[in-house]
Amino acid sequence: MKAALEKLHAIDREYRYLERASAALQWDQETYLPPKGVEERAEQLALLEGIAHERLITPETGRLLGELGSVSANPRGDESLPAIERDFLRVMRRRYDRAVKLPADFVSAAARAEGLSQAAWAQARRNNDFAAFLPHLTTMIDFARKKAEYWGFGDRAAQRNSAQSLYDGLLDIYEPGMPASEIGVLFTVLRDRLAALLKKIKLCPQPDTGFLKQTFPIEAQAAFNQKLMAYLGFDQERGRLDASAHPFTTTLGADDIRITTRYFPGNLLSGLFSVIHESGHALYEMGFPAELRRTCLADGASMAIHESQSRFWENVIGRSRPFWQGLFPTLRDCFPEQLGRSSAEALYRAVNEVKPSLIRVDADEVSYSLHIILRFELEKRLISGELAPEKLPAVWREYTREYLGLESDTNQRFNDADGVLQDIHWSMGSFGYFPSYALGNLYGLQFTQKLKSDIPELESLIAAGKFERLYTWLKDTIYCWGCRLEPAELLFKVTGAQLQVNPFLEYIEGKYTELYGL
Ligand code: ZN
Repeated sequence: MKAALEKLHAIDREYRYLERASAALQWDQETYLPPKGVEERAEQLALLEGIAHERLITPETGRLLGELGSVSANPRGDESLPAIERDFLRVMRRRYDRAVKLPADFVSAAARAEGLSQAAWAQARRNNDFAAFLPHLTTMIDFARKKAEYWGFGDRAAQRNSAQSLYDGLLDIYEPGMPASEIGVLFTVLRDRLAALLKKIKLCPQPDTGFLKQTFPIEAQAAFNQKLMAYLGFDQERGRLDASAHPFTTTLGADDIRITTRYFPGNLLSGLFSVIHESGHALYEMGFPAELRRTCLADGASMAIHESQSRFWENVIGRSRPFWQGLFPTLRDCFPEQLGRSSAEALYRAVNEVKPSLIRVDADEVSYSLHIILRFELEKRLISGELAPEKLPAVWREYTREYLGLESDTNQRFNDADGVLQDIHWSMGSFGYFPSYALGNLYGLQFTQKLKSDIPELESLIAAGKFERLYTWLKDTIYCWGCRLEPAELLFKVTGAQLQVNPFLEYIEGKYTELYGL
């Protein structure tokens, strides 16, 4: 058995290295690749993805998994194995089952189409030209539907699979065990209470944000971001920051975690909060314990759990009063002309201005989840075939009006660049990913409740810029598990409860009632 396990670990390792080589090429594509390099890069990525896929689905993997425990008898494998190895087997088995059901030519065709689609999206967004992206979007939807079908979801598989929808199959990639129906129930409550709060806030006077409407040179922003990352405890010998069209985090190795942000001279907060958000992802990736780092268990429990970490740092910490009490002097020193006459309190109020925006990543905490619920509703209908892709821009505008009270067009001109084209996800075929962001808010605040009861003096530690105890708590409570536990198991282990909307809504309602004097 020991020999079989070692062989399986070798396969996992090779697969992971190939995936990370792909990730390095993808990172390069998003940061430094010259525009004309895109086409061959898509071929390179398709080849690598194909090889990685082949490596994972060899008959040997199937034989080894069979030898090490039967799926139906015991999903976590042989009881005589150490718990960590049983978890390793469970994760490998899930990966293998998923991968083996996808034909190799499908996988490389999808990777090739994805590369071209992403490039077409970037150009279409620059040119505000949805029509140029439409054929790629249609292809991405077809690939996503086909993938879920291969996995046994969808109408044709209804008899075998208790009528789980194709969209459920895609959601399961990112949030195992959470179907659209369950998400729908949580999102309905979330939407109604957030919309009600938004309405009340709209009647209130806004904080002064005039001091932020100045020029903040990109070089100075980049210099501040380096300080910010160090302040948050991002080990810059194990990662780096670059610029890209859409901020992201990618793991190229256990000691090589890359984050990106984007810069606008007229918008200091956009780049800064992206750095805090992505650092939250990176701290999670950097915090997996040594015994997991040699395996596929060194991964987030799910996308929503990953988002719970990034959004915790971005909002619960980064948009809190004590955080800016601690950090404001450093920011002011980087921008003495622009911020010399401002204060930590003024900045705290300004970063929490509730002002619905067309752009999801620039949205405030109150309206953010409404952006996600909009995307959830639309992608559910795109995948089911109920909504034709060519109708998407019009429906997007309709929902934007209904959920956020915003018009996306000016002077009779359709502004799809700030509408349906604003996010990279669909161009990559990542349908089912968006709900993770709003679910991450829910997980995050449920974790925070427990954190605050364990460390009652958290606020004064944050004000002093002392994050060690917080970081240790996150490591000992969440990071230590990697993906050994399913999201619901992890949540239950930490908080003793199932996923709820109330901790998040109480936090939001409490914070903004105070800020806006409601
Ligand atoms: Zn994120």
